[in-house]
Amino acid sequence: MAIKQPRRSILRSILDFVMLIVLLIFIGPCVKIFNYFNMSTRNCYTTHKRHAKKVENVQAQVRRWIEGGRKGHMCTAKPGWKSFSIHKVDKRGFYKVEVDLNDIIEIDVENKRLIVEPGMMMGQLTKILTDKGFTIPVVPELDSLTVGGLICGAGCETSSHHYGVFADAVTSFELVTADGDVLNCSETENSDYFYAVSHSYGTIGFLTSVSIPLIPAGKYMQIEYVHVDSIPNAVKLMQQRNKNHAYVEGIIYSMTDVMLMFGDMTSNPSDPSRINYINRWYKPFFHNIVENVMSRMKSSKNNAKYIEYFPLRDYFHRHSRGMFWQFENTLPALSNPLIMLVFGWVHPLNIHAVWALFPNFFYRFITRIQLLQDFCVPTVKLDEFLQKCDTIYKVYPIWLCPVKLQNRSMAKTPAVYGGDYMDLGFYGTPINAGRSIADRIRECEQYVLKNNGFLGLYADVFLNKEDLRQMFYTIPYDKVRQASSSCRKAFPDVFDKAMRRIK
Ligand SMILES: Cc1cc2nc3c(=O)[nH]c(=O)nc-3n(C[C@H](O)[C@H](O)[C@H](O)COP(=O)(O)OP(=O)(O)OC[C@H]3O[C@@H](n4cnc5c(N)ncnc54)[C@H](O)[C@@H]3O)c2cc1C
Repeated sequence: MAIKQPRRSILRSILDFVMLIVLLIFIGPCVKIFNYFNMSTRNCYTTHKRHAKKVENVQAQVRRWIEGGRKGHMCTAKPGWKSFSIHKVDKRGFYKVEVDLNDIIEIDVENKRLIVEPGMMMGQLTKILTDKGFTIPVVPELDSLTVGGLICGAGCETSSHHYGVFADAVTSFELVTADGDVLNCSETENSDYFYAVSHSYGTIGFLTSVSIPLIPAGKYMQIEYVHVDSIPNAVKLMQQRNKNHAYVEGIIYSMTDVMLMFGDMTSNPSDPSRINYINRWYKPFFHNIVENVMSRMKSSKNNAKYIEYFPLRDYFHRHSRGMFWQFENTLPALSNPLIMLVFGWVHPLNIHAVWALFPNFFYRFITRIQLLQDFCVPTVKLDEFLQKCDTIYKVYPIWLCPVKLQNRSMAKTPAVYGGDYMDLGFYGTPINAGRSIADRIRECEQYVLKNNGFLGLYADVFLNKEDLRQMFYTIPYDKVRQASSSCRKAFPDVFDKAMRRIK
Protein backbone atom coordinates (compact mmCIF):
# COMPACT_ATOMS: atom_id res chain seq x y z
CA MET A 1 0.00 0.00 0.00
CA ALA A 2 1.34 3.43 -0.87
CA ILE A 3 1.77 6.21 1.68
CA LYS A 4 -1.05 8.78 1.54
CA GLN A 5 0.29 11.99 0.04
CA PRO A 6 -1.18 15.17 -1.42
CA ARG A 7 -1.67 15.08 -5.22
CA ARG A 8 1.53 15.94 -7.03
CA SER A 9 1.56 18.69 -9.66
CA ILE A 10 2.60 17.86 -13.24
CA LEU A 11 5.86 19.74 -12.68
CA ARG A 12 6.58 17.76 -9.51
CA SER A 13 5.80 14.48 -11.32
CA ILE A 14 8.29 15.37 -14.07
CA LEU A 15 10.88 16.27 -11.42
CA ASP A 16 10.20 12.95 -9.66
CA PHE A 17 10.74 11.07 -12.90
CA VAL A 18 14.07 12.82 -13.56
CA MET A 19 15.20 12.24 -9.96
CA LEU A 20 14.23 8.58 -10.18
CA ILE A 21 16.29 8.02 -13.34
CA VAL A 22 19.30 9.91 -11.91
CA LEU A 23 19.03 7.99 -8.66
CA LEU A 24 18.69 4.51 -10.11
CA ILE A 25 21.07 4.81 -13.05
CA PHE A 26 23.76 7.11 -11.69
CA ILE A 27 23.61 7.69 -7.93
CA GLY A 28 22.62 4.14 -6.95
CA PRO A 29 25.65 2.40 -8.51
CA CYS A 30 28.04 5.17 -7.32
CA VAL A 31 26.69 4.83 -3.79
CA LYS A 32 27.08 1.05 -3.92
CA ILE A 33 30.76 1.38 -4.85
CA PHE A 34 31.24 4.00 -2.10
CA ASN A 35 29.44 1.70 0.33
CA TYR A 36 31.68 -1.22 -0.50
CA PHE A 37 34.75 0.66 0.72
CA ASN A 38 33.15 2.90 3.35
CA MET A 39 31.18 0.24 5.23
CA SER A 40 33.84 -2.45 4.95
CA THR A 41 34.55 -4.30 8.19
CA ARG A 42 37.84 -5.77 7.02
CA ASN A 43 40.30 -3.25 8.43
CA CYS A 44 38.46 -1.78 11.34
CA TYR A 45 40.45 -3.05 14.27
CA THR A 46 43.17 -1.20 16.10
CA THR A 47 45.32 -1.90 19.15
CA HIS A 48 45.45 0.05 22.41
CA LYS A 49 48.92 1.25 21.39
CA ARG A 50 47.87 2.52 17.96
CA HIS A 51 44.78 4.09 19.51
CA ALA A 52 46.97 5.96 22.02
CA LYS A 53 49.02 7.36 19.11
CA LYS A 54 45.85 8.61 17.40
CA VAL A 55 44.71 10.27 20.63
CA GLU A 56 48.12 11.97 20.91
CA ASN A 57 47.47 13.40 17.47
CA VAL A 58 44.18 14.92 18.68
CA GLN A 59 45.95 16.33 21.74
CA ALA A 60 48.70 17.81 19.56
CA GLN A 61 46.12 19.63 17.43
CA VAL A 62 44.42 21.05 20.53
CA ARG A 63 47.79 22.18 21.91
CA ARG A 64 48.58 23.94 18.63
CA TRP A 65 45.28 25.82 19.01
CA ILE A 66 46.30 26.81 22.57
CA GLU A 67 49.78 27.91 21.44
CA GLY A 68 48.18 29.90 18.63
CA GLY A 69 46.35 32.03 21.22
CA ARG A 70 43.07 30.05 21.40
CA LYS A 71 41.67 31.86 18.40
CA GLY A 72 38.10 30.95 17.41
CA HIS A 73 36.14 27.93 18.53
CA MET A 74 37.16 24.33 17.88
CA CYS A 75 35.10 21.58 16.26
CA THR A 76 35.70 18.21 14.63
CA ALA A 77 36.92 18.36 11.03
CA LYS A 78 34.19 15.90 9.93
CA PRO A 79 32.70 17.31 6.71
CA GLY A 80 28.95 18.01 6.59
CA TRP A 81 28.21 15.19 4.15
CA LYS A 82 29.61 12.67 6.64
CA SER A 83 27.09 13.75 9.26
CA PHE A 84 23.60 12.30 9.34
CA SER A 85 22.05 15.49 10.63
CA ILE A 86 19.91 17.29 8.07
CA HIS A 87 21.09 20.74 9.01
CA LYS A 88 24.81 21.08 8.92
CA VAL A 89 26.63 23.36 11.32
CA ASP A 90 28.41 26.18 9.51
CA LYS A 91 32.03 25.39 10.45
CA ARG A 92 33.61 28.35 8.66
CA GLY A 93 35.88 30.22 11.08
CA PHE A 94 36.20 27.20 13.41
CA TYR A 95 39.58 25.60 14.17
CA LYS A 96 39.01 22.08 12.85
CA VAL A 97 40.44 19.12 14.71
CA GLU A 98 40.85 15.87 12.82
CA VAL A 99 39.38 13.10 15.02
CA ASP A 100 40.25 10.22 12.75
CA LEU A 101 39.24 7.42 15.11
CA ASN A 102 37.04 4.82 13.45
CA ASP A 103 38.06 1.40 14.74
CA ILE A 104 37.28 -1.25 17.32
CA ILE A 105 39.91 -1.33 20.05
CA GLU A 106 38.80 -4.37 22.02
CA ILE A 107 36.01 -6.92 22.19
CA ASP A 108 36.39 -8.35 25.68
CA VAL A 109 34.21 -11.45 25.54
CA GLU A 110 34.99 -12.52 29.09
CA ASN A 111 33.97 -9.25 30.70
CA LYS A 112 31.34 -8.56 28.03
CA ARG A 113 32.72 -5.17 27.13
CA LEU A 114 33.37 -3.38 23.85
CA ILE A 115 35.88 -0.55 23.53
CA VAL A 116 35.36 1.36 20.33
CA GLU A 117 36.43 4.60 18.68
CA PRO A 118 33.76 7.25 18.03
CA GLY A 119 33.81 7.09 14.22
CA MET A 120 32.65 3.45 14.10
CA MET A 121 29.34 3.21 12.23
CA MET A 122 26.33 1.19 13.35
CA GLY A 123 26.27 -0.84 10.10
CA GLN A 124 29.86 -1.96 10.67
CA LEU A 125 29.41 -2.56 14.38
CA THR A 126 26.35 -4.80 14.05
CA LYS A 127 28.11 -6.87 11.38
CA ILE A 128 31.18 -7.44 13.55
CA LEU A 129 29.28 -8.07 16.77
CA THR A 130 26.47 -10.30 15.47
CA ASP A 131 29.07 -12.49 13.71
CA LYS A 132 30.58 -13.02 17.16
CA GLY A 133 27.19 -13.60 18.82
CA PHE A 134 26.92 -10.22 20.55
CA THR A 135 25.11 -6.93 20.37
CA ILE A 136 25.05 -3.69 22.38
CA PRO A 137 22.15 -2.41 24.51
CA VAL A 138 20.88 0.25 22.07
CA VAL A 139 21.41 -0.19 18.31
CA PRO A 140 20.21 2.90 16.45
CA GLU A 141 19.05 1.64 13.18
CA LEU A 142 20.53 3.53 10.26
CA ASP A 143 23.82 2.10 8.97
CA SER A 144 25.90 5.26 8.90
CA LEU A 145 25.15 6.65 12.37
CA THR A 146 28.35 6.76 14.41
CA VAL A 147 29.03 5.93 18.05
CA GLY A 148 30.41 9.46 18.65
CA GLY A 149 27.52 11.19 16.88
CA LEU A 150 24.99 9.17 18.86
CA ILE A 151 26.61 10.05 22.20
CA CYS A 152 27.37 13.71 21.48
CA GLY A 153 24.11 14.03 19.52
CA ALA A 154 21.18 11.80 20.29
CA GLY A 155 19.93 8.34 19.49
CA CYS A 156 17.26 5.95 20.64
CA GLU A 157 15.91 2.62 19.46
CA THR A 158 13.46 -0.14 20.20
CA SER A 159 15.34 -1.28 23.33
CA SER A 160 15.28 2.26 24.76
CA HIS A 161 12.30 1.42 26.98
CA HIS A 162 14.84 -0.59 29.03
CA TYR A 163 18.13 1.23 28.51
CA GLY A 164 17.25 4.84 27.68
CA VAL A 165 18.98 6.74 24.89
CA PHE A 166 22.22 5.47 23.33
CA ALA A 167 24.39 7.45 25.76
CA ASP A 168 22.52 6.08 28.80
CA ALA A 169 23.87 2.60 28.04
CA VAL A 170 27.55 3.61 27.83
CA THR A 171 29.83 2.60 30.73
CA SER A 172 32.69 5.04 30.25
CA PHE A 173 34.52 7.09 27.67
CA GLU A 174 37.76 8.88 26.96
CA LEU A 175 37.77 12.57 26.15
CA VAL A 176 40.37 15.13 25.03
CA THR A 177 39.53 18.37 26.82
CA ALA A 178 39.98 21.99 25.75
CA ASP A 179 43.32 21.98 27.60
CA GLY A 180 44.56 19.02 25.57
CA ASP A 181 44.34 16.60 28.52
CA VAL A 182 42.96 13.08 28.24
CA LEU A 183 40.21 12.27 30.74
CA ASN A 184 38.66 8.89 31.47
CA CYS A 185 35.04 9.54 32.36
CA SER A 186 32.56 7.26 34.09
CA GLU A 187 30.06 7.38 36.94
CA THR A 188 32.96 7.19 39.40
CA GLU A 189 35.75 9.05 37.57
CA ASN A 190 35.40 12.61 36.23
CA SER A 191 31.68 12.07 36.59
CA ASP A 192 30.84 15.73 35.85
CA TYR A 193 32.22 15.24 32.35
CA PHE A 194 30.57 11.84 32.05
CA TYR A 195 27.12 13.38 32.53
CA ALA A 196 27.85 16.51 30.50
CA VAL A 197 28.93 15.02 27.17
CA SER A 198 25.74 13.35 26.00
CA HIS A 199 23.75 15.75 23.79
CA SER A 200 26.57 18.32 23.99
CA TYR A 201 27.16 18.21 20.21
CA GLY A 202 30.91 18.34 20.66
CA THR A 203 30.95 21.39 22.96
CA ILE A 204 32.64 19.76 25.97
CA GLY A 205 35.62 18.02 24.37
CA PHE A 206 36.65 15.50 21.72
CA LEU A 207 35.43 11.99 22.33
CA THR A 208 38.17 9.47 21.53
CA SER A 209 36.92 6.10 22.77
CA VAL A 210 33.84 4.57 24.35
CA SER A 211 33.23 1.50 26.48
CA ILE A 212 29.86 -0.20 25.98
CA PRO A 213 28.52 -3.40 27.60
CA LEU A 214 28.06 -6.42 25.32
CA ILE A 215 24.90 -8.50 25.34
CA PRO A 216 24.74 -12.10 24.04
CA ALA A 217 22.72 -12.07 20.82
CA GLY A 218 20.37 -14.62 19.28
CA LYS A 219 20.36 -15.37 15.56
CA TYR A 220 16.84 -14.10 15.02
CA MET A 221 14.44 -11.53 16.33
CA GLN A 222 11.03 -12.95 17.12
CA ILE A 223 8.46 -10.27 16.38
CA GLU A 224 4.90 -10.36 17.56
CA TYR A 225 2.68 -7.93 15.66
CA VAL A 226 -0.35 -6.50 17.41
CA HIS A 227 -2.88 -4.22 15.75
CA VAL A 228 -4.64 -1.66 17.96
CA ASP A 229 -7.36 0.77 16.98
CA SER A 230 -6.51 3.84 19.05
CA ILE A 231 -3.59 5.65 20.66
CA PRO A 232 -4.87 5.15 24.25
CA ASN A 233 -5.13 1.40 23.55
CA ALA A 234 -1.59 1.39 22.17
CA VAL A 235 -0.31 3.15 25.30
CA LYS A 236 -2.23 0.76 27.56
CA LEU A 237 -0.85 -2.30 25.82
CA MET A 238 2.72 -1.01 25.85
CA GLN A 239 2.45 -0.18 29.55
CA GLN A 240 1.31 -3.75 30.20
CA ARG A 241 3.78 -5.53 27.97
CA ASN A 242 6.95 -3.48 27.48
CA LYS A 243 8.70 -4.85 30.55
CA ASN A 244 8.36 -8.41 29.18
CA HIS A 245 9.96 -7.67 25.82
CA ALA A 246 13.46 -6.58 24.92
CA TYR A 247 12.48 -4.60 21.81
CA VAL A 248 9.30 -2.57 21.25
CA GLU A 249 8.23 -0.19 18.49
CA GLY A 250 5.09 1.03 16.83
CA ILE A 251 4.11 2.41 13.46
CA ILE A 252 1.09 4.70 13.49
CA TYR A 253 -0.66 4.55 10.11
CA SER A 254 -3.61 6.66 11.29
CA MET A 255 -5.24 7.55 14.61
CA THR A 256 -7.19 4.28 14.38
CA ASP A 257 -4.52 1.99 12.89
CA VAL A 258 -1.46 1.39 15.01
CA MET A 259 0.83 -1.61 14.62
CA LEU A 260 2.86 -2.52 17.69
CA MET A 261 5.80 -4.89 17.43
CA PHE A 262 7.12 -6.72 20.48
CA GLY A 263 10.50 -8.33 19.89
CA ASP A 264 12.80 -10.82 21.63
CA MET A 265 15.99 -12.44 20.40
CA THR A 266 16.03 -16.18 19.84
CA SER A 267 18.27 -18.72 18.11
CA ASN A 268 15.54 -21.34 17.76
CA PRO A 269 12.47 -20.12 15.92
CA SER A 270 9.58 -22.36 16.91
CA ASP A 271 8.22 -22.19 13.35
CA PRO A 272 11.07 -21.85 10.76
CA SER A 273 8.52 -21.27 7.97
CA ARG A 274 7.88 -17.89 9.59
CA ILE A 275 11.46 -16.65 9.01
CA ASN A 276 11.23 -13.51 6.90
CA TYR A 277 14.40 -12.20 5.22
CA ILE A 278 13.07 -8.66 5.21
CA ASN A 279 16.20 -7.01 3.85
CA ARG A 280 16.49 -9.02 0.62
CA TRP A 281 16.65 -6.70 -2.36
CA TYR A 282 13.17 -7.45 -3.73
CA LYS A 283 11.34 -7.15 -0.41
CA PRO A 284 9.08 -4.13 0.20
CA PHE A 285 10.34 -1.45 2.56
CA PHE A 286 9.75 -2.46 6.18
CA HIS A 287 6.82 -0.08 6.82
CA ASN A 288 5.08 -1.64 3.80
CA ILE A 289 5.72 -5.16 5.11
CA VAL A 290 4.13 -4.17 8.42
CA GLU A 291 1.21 -2.51 6.67
CA ASN A 292 0.59 -5.67 4.64
CA VAL A 293 0.54 -7.70 7.86
CA MET A 294 -1.92 -5.19 9.31
CA SER A 295 -4.22 -5.52 6.28
CA ARG A 296 -4.13 -9.31 6.54
CA MET A 297 -4.87 -9.18 10.27
CA LYS A 298 -7.77 -6.80 9.74
CA SER A 299 -9.31 -8.70 6.84
CA SER A 300 -9.02 -12.08 8.56
CA LYS A 301 -10.43 -10.51 11.74
CA ASN A 302 -7.48 -12.20 13.40
CA ASN A 303 -6.41 -9.30 15.52
CA ALA A 304 -5.00 -11.51 18.21
CA LYS A 305 -1.44 -12.43 17.34
CA TYR A 306 0.92 -12.78 14.39
CA ILE A 307 4.53 -13.86 14.80
CA GLU A 308 7.50 -13.70 12.43
CA TYR A 309 11.25 -14.15 12.76
CA PHE A 310 13.79 -11.81 11.17
CA PRO A 311 17.53 -12.51 10.93
CA LEU A 312 18.93 -10.37 13.75
CA ARG A 313 20.90 -7.95 11.60
CA ASP A 314 17.95 -7.55 9.22
CA TYR A 315 15.92 -6.48 12.24
CA PHE A 316 18.54 -4.02 13.49
CA HIS A 317 18.59 -2.33 10.08
CA ARG A 318 14.98 -2.92 9.06
CA HIS A 319 14.28 0.74 8.28
CA SER A 320 17.64 1.40 6.58
CA ARG A 321 16.54 0.39 3.07
CA GLY A 322 13.68 2.88 2.99
CA MET A 323 15.24 5.29 5.51
CA PHE A 324 11.98 4.70 7.34
CA TRP A 325 9.47 5.94 4.72
CA GLN A 326 11.58 8.87 3.65
CA PHE A 327 12.61 7.47 0.25
CA GLU A 328 9.04 6.51 -0.62
CA ASN A 329 7.84 9.96 0.44
CA THR A 330 10.33 11.67 -1.79
CA LEU A 331 10.00 9.31 -4.76
CA PRO A 332 6.88 7.10 -4.44
CA ALA A 333 7.94 4.97 -7.43
CA LEU A 334 10.81 3.56 -5.35
CA SER A 335 8.41 1.25 -3.54
CA ASN A 336 6.88 -0.09 -6.77
CA PRO A 337 7.36 -3.91 -6.72
CA LEU A 338 8.77 -3.98 -10.26
CA ILE A 339 11.28 -1.21 -9.56
CA MET A 340 12.17 -3.02 -6.35
CA LEU A 341 12.76 -6.27 -8.25
CA VAL A 342 15.01 -4.64 -10.85
CA PHE A 343 16.70 -1.90 -8.81
CA GLY A 344 16.15 -2.98 -5.19
CA TRP A 345 19.86 -3.84 -4.95
CA VAL A 346 20.71 -0.12 -4.68
CA HIS A 347 19.28 -0.08 -1.14
CA PRO A 348 20.25 0.81 1.48
CA LEU A 349 21.54 4.01 -0.06
CA ASN A 350 24.53 5.08 2.01
CA ILE A 351 23.34 8.40 3.35
CA HIS A 352 26.83 9.91 3.48
CA ALA A 353 27.21 9.34 -0.25
CA VAL A 354 23.71 10.67 -0.95
CA TRP A 355 24.47 13.82 1.07
CA ALA A 356 27.71 14.21 -0.91
CA LEU A 357 26.15 13.68 -4.35
CA PHE A 358 23.02 15.82 -4.08
CA PRO A 359 23.54 19.58 -3.87
CA ASN A 360 22.53 21.40 -0.68
CA PHE A 361 19.56 23.20 -2.26
CA PHE A 362 17.93 19.79 -2.77
CA TYR A 363 17.73 19.30 1.01
CA ARG A 364 16.45 22.82 1.51
CA PHE A 365 13.70 21.98 -1.01
CA ILE A 366 12.88 18.68 0.75
CA THR A 367 12.69 20.26 4.22
CA ARG A 368 10.44 23.00 2.85
CA ILE A 369 7.85 20.47 1.66
CA GLN A 370 8.39 17.63 4.12
CA LEU A 371 8.43 17.37 7.86
CA LEU A 372 11.55 15.66 9.24
CA GLN A 373 11.63 15.78 13.01
CA ASP A 374 11.62 13.63 16.14
CA PHE A 375 9.59 14.89 19.07
CA CYS A 376 9.90 13.23 22.47
CA VAL A 377 6.82 13.66 24.67
CA PRO A 378 5.85 12.19 28.05
CA THR A 379 3.86 8.98 27.49
CA VAL A 380 0.90 10.43 29.42
CA LYS A 381 0.69 13.22 26.84
CA LEU A 382 0.98 10.98 23.77
CA ASP A 383 -2.69 10.86 22.80
CA GLU A 384 -3.20 14.61 23.32
CA PHE A 385 -0.07 15.42 21.31
CA LEU A 386 -0.99 13.12 18.44
CA GLN A 387 -4.53 14.56 18.30
CA LYS A 388 -2.90 17.94 17.91
CA CYS A 389 -0.48 16.70 15.23
CA ASP A 390 -3.37 15.10 13.37
CA THR A 391 -4.92 18.53 12.90
CA ILE A 392 -1.64 20.39 12.34
CA TYR A 393 0.16 18.02 9.95
CA LYS A 394 -1.59 14.79 9.10
CA VAL A 395 1.78 13.18 8.40
CA TYR A 396 1.59 9.39 8.38
CA PRO A 397 3.08 6.93 9.13
CA ILE A 398 4.62 8.04 12.44
CA TRP A 399 7.39 6.08 14.13
CA LEU A 400 6.70 5.30 17.78
CA CYS A 401 9.52 4.31 20.12
CA PRO A 402 9.10 4.12 23.92
CA VAL A 403 12.05 5.51 25.88
CA LYS A 404 12.78 5.22 29.59
CA LEU A 405 15.06 8.17 30.27
CA GLN A 406 17.89 7.42 32.66
CA ASN A 407 20.13 10.01 34.18
CA ARG A 408 23.02 10.36 31.80
CA SER A 409 21.89 12.61 29.01
CA MET A 410 20.68 16.13 28.50
CA ALA A 411 17.20 14.73 27.88
CA LYS A 412 14.82 15.07 30.84
CA THR A 413 15.67 13.30 34.10
CA PRO A 414 13.62 10.41 35.48
CA ALA A 415 12.20 12.97 37.94
CA VAL A 416 9.84 14.10 35.16
CA TYR A 417 6.98 11.63 34.64
CA GLY A 418 9.27 8.80 35.84
CA GLY A 419 11.29 9.23 32.62
CA ASP A 420 8.52 7.53 30.58
CA TYR A 421 8.68 9.12 27.15
CA MET A 422 7.72 8.35 23.57
CA ASP A 423 9.92 9.27 20.67
CA LEU A 424 7.80 10.15 17.65
CA GLY A 425 9.42 10.28 14.23
CA PHE A 426 7.55 12.43 11.72
CA TYR A 427 9.02 11.98 8.26
CA GLY A 428 6.73 13.02 5.45
CA THR A 429 4.56 15.47 3.56
CA PRO A 430 1.48 16.83 5.37
CA ILE A 431 -1.71 15.57 3.71
CA ASN A 432 -3.63 18.73 4.59
CA ALA A 433 -2.47 21.66 2.47
CA GLY A 434 -2.18 25.15 3.89
CA ARG A 435 0.40 26.62 6.20
CA SER A 436 4.14 26.27 5.69
CA ILE A 437 6.02 23.40 7.30
CA ALA A 438 7.92 25.91 9.44
CA ASP A 439 4.68 27.33 10.89
CA ARG A 440 3.38 23.91 11.73
CA ILE A 441 6.63 22.85 13.38
CA ARG A 442 6.54 26.05 15.45
CA GLU A 443 3.08 25.18 16.77
CA CYS A 444 4.20 21.67 17.73
CA GLU A 445 7.38 22.96 19.33
CA GLN A 446 5.31 25.22 21.61
CA TYR A 447 3.19 22.27 22.71
CA VAL A 448 6.28 20.13 23.34
CA LEU A 449 7.95 22.95 25.27
CA LYS A 450 4.92 23.52 27.52
CA ASN A 451 4.42 19.82 28.15
CA ASN A 452 7.90 18.77 29.25
CA GLY A 453 8.93 17.28 25.94
CA PHE A 454 12.04 17.83 23.84
CA LEU A 455 13.09 17.48 20.23
CA GLY A 456 15.92 16.38 17.94
CA LEU A 457 18.52 19.10 17.43
CA TYR A 458 19.62 17.40 14.20
CA ALA A 459 16.61 18.74 12.29
CA ASP A 460 14.71 22.00 11.77
CA VAL A 461 14.35 23.90 15.05
CA PHE A 462 12.51 27.23 15.18
CA LEU A 463 12.52 27.93 18.92
CA ASN A 464 14.73 30.70 20.23
CA LYS A 465 17.80 29.78 22.22
CA GLU A 466 16.21 30.36 25.65
CA ASP A 467 13.16 28.20 24.90
CA LEU A 468 15.35 25.49 23.42
CA ARG A 469 17.55 25.46 26.51
CA GLN A 470 14.45 25.14 28.69
CA MET A 471 13.58 21.88 26.94
CA PHE A 472 16.67 20.12 28.20
CA TYR A 473 18.22 19.18 31.53
CA THR A 474 21.39 21.25 31.33
CA ILE A 475 22.65 21.23 34.95
CA PRO A 476 25.58 18.78 34.44
CA TYR A 477 26.48 20.47 31.14
CA ASP A 478 26.43 23.97 32.63
CA LYS A 479 28.43 22.81 35.66
CA VAL A 480 31.35 21.66 33.51
CA ARG A 481 31.32 24.75 31.33
CA GLN A 482 31.05 27.15 34.27
CA ALA A 483 33.98 25.45 36.00
CA SER A 484 36.23 25.54 32.94
CA SER A 485 36.98 28.82 31.19
CA SER A 486 39.09 26.82 28.70
CA CYS A 487 36.01 24.85 27.72
CA ARG A 488 33.97 28.03 27.23
CA LYS A 489 36.75 29.55 25.17
CA ALA A 490 37.20 26.40 23.08
CA PHE A 491 33.62 25.48 22.27
CA PRO A 492 30.40 27.46 21.70
CA ASP A 493 27.36 26.85 23.87
CA VAL A 494 25.48 23.84 22.49
CA PHE A 495 22.36 25.88 21.70
CA ASP A 496 24.38 28.56 19.91
CA LYS A 497 25.96 25.75 17.90
CA ALA A 498 22.55 24.25 17.13
CA MET A 499 21.41 27.63 15.77
CA ARG A 500 24.52 28.08 13.64
CA ARG A 501 23.42 26.33 10.51
CA ILE A 502 24.31 26.38 6.86
CA LYS A 503 21.52 28.22 5.07
C1 LIG B 1 16.57 11.28 8.64
C2 LIG B 1 17.11 10.98 10.02
C3 LIG B 1 16.74 9.81 10.65
C4 LIG B 1 17.22 9.52 11.91
N1 LIG B 1 16.86 8.35 12.48
C5 LIG B 1 17.37 8.02 13.66
C6 LIG B 1 17.10 6.74 14.24
O1 LIG B 1 16.46 5.91 13.68
N2 LIG B 1 17.58 6.48 15.46
C7 LIG B 1 18.34 7.38 16.10
O2 LIG B 1 18.76 7.09 17.18
N3 LIG B 1 18.63 8.59 15.58
C8 LIG B 1 18.17 8.93 14.38
N4 LIG B 1 18.48 10.15 13.85
C9 LIG B 1 19.21 11.15 14.63
C10 LIG B 1 20.68 10.88 14.62
O3 LIG B 1 20.92 9.84 15.52
C11 LIG B 1 21.46 12.10 15.09
O4 LIG B 1 21.31 13.08 14.11
C12 LIG B 1 22.93 11.75 15.33
O5 LIG B 1 23.52 12.73 16.14
C13 LIG B 1 23.67 11.68 14.01
O6 LIG B 1 24.80 10.87 14.15
P1 LIG B 1 26.11 11.09 13.25
O7 LIG B 1 26.94 9.91 13.50
O8 LIG B 1 25.79 11.43 11.85
O9 LIG B 1 26.74 12.32 14.01
P2 LIG B 1 27.15 13.77 13.54
O10 LIG B 1 25.95 14.46 12.97
O11 LIG B 1 28.37 13.71 12.75
O12 LIG B 1 27.52 14.38 14.95
C14 LIG B 1 26.57 14.81 15.88
C15 LIG B 1 27.25 15.78 16.82
O13 LIG B 1 28.22 15.09 17.59
C16 LIG B 1 29.48 15.72 17.49
N5 LIG B 1 30.52 14.69 17.47
C17 LIG B 1 30.57 13.58 16.71
N6 LIG B 1 31.68 12.88 16.98
C18 LIG B 1 32.35 13.56 17.94
C19 LIG B 1 33.57 13.36 18.63
N7 LIG B 1 34.34 12.30 18.40
N8 LIG B 1 33.95 14.26 19.56
C20 LIG B 1 33.19 15.35 19.80
N9 LIG B 1 32.03 15.59 19.18
C21 LIG B 1 31.61 14.72 18.26
C22 LIG B 1 29.45 16.48 16.19
O14 LIG B 1 30.31 17.60 16.25
C23 LIG B 1 28.00 16.90 16.10
O15 LIG B 1 27.78 18.11 16.78
C24 LIG B 1 18.05 10.44 12.58
C25 LIG B 1 18.44 11.62 11.94
C26 LIG B 1 17.99 11.88 10.67
C27 LIG B 1 18.45 13.12 9.99
